[in-house]
Amino acid sequence: MKSSTRPNLPQRFYCDLFGHNYKVTKDVTEHVKEYTCACCKRELTTNGNGRLTELTPKFREINATLARIYSNKLARMRARRFETSAA
Ligand SMILES: [Zn+2]
Repeated sequence: MKSSTRPNLPQRFYCDLFGHNYKVTKDVTEHVKEYTCACCKRELTTNGNGRLTELTPKFREINATLARIYSNKLARMRARRFETSAA
């Protein structure tokens, strides 16, 4: 078993050298996603300009709101498509 309490300095060093290894952890909307670095666990998100920025608690909040609006919109689009195909 690997200990997870070890400081992650080697990982950070790796990231500094080779760049972060970001994986999408959450699809907030079609264009906004949350990412976590598989090495150092640094978290990023897409901001309003479509650029990556640090995932701060503020952005987490914004993303939660966006996700709610987005899923409502998707639900409405699906409902409309259903109406159209039923007509
Ligand atoms: Zn990293």
